[in-house]
Amino acid sequence: MHRILEEITMGYKKVWALRYAIELLGWDIETYMPQGGAVARGDALAELEILTKKELMNISSLVERASNLENLDDVEKGIVRVLARRIKYYSRIPEDLLLGLNKISSEGTIYWRIDRQKNEFNRFKPYLHKIVEINKTIAEKLGYDKHPYNALLDIYEEGLTVEDMDMIFSKLVNRIPVLLKKDIPSHHELEDMRYKTEEMIKVNEGIIKLLDMPSDRFRMDISTHPFTSGIAVDDVRITTRYEGYDFKRSLYSTIHECGHAIYELNLDKNLEGTPVCTGASSGVHESKSRFWENFIGRSKAFVEVAYSIFEHLSIIKKYSKSDIYTYFNVVKPSFIRVDSDELTYNLHIAIRYEIEKKLIAGELNVDEIYSYWSELMNKYLGIKPKGYADSFLQDVHWSKGWIGYFPTYTLGNVIAGIIKINSIVG
Ligand code: MG
Repeated sequence: MHRILEEITMGYKKVWALRYAIELLGWDIETYMPQGGAVARGDALAELEILTKKELMNISSLVERASNLENLDDVEKGIVRVLARRIKYYSRIPEDLLLGLNKISSEGTIYWRIDRQKNEFNRFKPYLHKIVEINKTIAEKLGYDKHPYNALLDIYEEGLTVEDMDMIFSKLVNRIPVLLKKDIPSHHELEDMRYKTEEMIKVNEGIIKLLDMPSDRFRMDISTHPFTSGIAVDDVRITTRYEGYDFKRSLYSTIHECGHAIYELNLDKNLEGTPVCTGASSGVHESKSRFWENFIGRSKAFVEVAYSIFEHLSIIKKYSKSDIYTYFNVVKPSFIRVDSDELTYNLHIAIRYEIEKKLIAGELNVDEIYSYWSELMNKYLGIKPKGYADSFLQDVHWSKGWIGYFPTYTLGNVIAGIIKINSIVG
């Protein structure tokens, strides 16, 4: 390895250790931390973030020198590219802007939650307005070609542009409604049926065995919103949830997160401790989870091998493999993105994409979101939400300050589809 690269990787080791701690503390918040720990944990995390930035900026001049070097190998080029992106982000965006966004979004999340519960939009409105304004400023500071939204898309998916997403969505929003008109079952009685949590835990445990998740490098816990945490290559954790009814919800949370975990578990161990020991991008990461969830988990072959595991559920007795397959593949237009099926899911993302694009371009203001949302939902899915909670208040993302993240979900679905087609053809 080149001498400058060696210095960079040595300096980066501190950033890696901080990230390691931040990841573990974040996992603990969602799983085992007593509620009372939230304030101290928030303070500790904020300090760790400041330290991370400081350690990263300490190697910024080395990274700049390295970016002019020739004859770097692929890993070295990757290290320089990934670090240069992060350093650019921190050096172009003034600290008070990031602190401001943090403050507005942690307060805003509280009012978002109340508004969503009451199906109103007044407490959260001034916060959302500020969140949009701050994101517009961030786009200006980062710089962009053609469209300001490109600057925000690039934060979550390197190089992704409005041009790319317009092309992808134009194909999806034209094709999916045609497929929706086909004769596909739209309901199954198992969707309303309650299960015993202790039985469903046995199912999920059986599934992670079936997927061959390594018990010495992987664990599964419970949280409100399922997620995967790659603490290290040999320490990858997922969570799942138990709603108590419609057992496929819990099942697909588990399989989806296992998809993310399989990716993390297969990262090259030689890269551990470097900035490139991570998924290639959010979209690529999501393609792994969607591939396992939709193409493996909803297939006839999977039902065939997993049926004996489902038999842990006492409610399953009267249903055949073919009933279960139908139940796994029902399709219907619905208001809530996270409950939507494989086919309609991307239409939910298309709505959010159109709105974010217009908000950042200044072509839509916060007061107009609801009516534009209804218009798009009616156009794509043929239904109109009955209130704010069924509409844009359903997702946590905007309250957290994340604008530009949603498209990576659809990108993940599209990449998963490409992998599937190539694996059949190739
Ligand atoms: Mg995911």
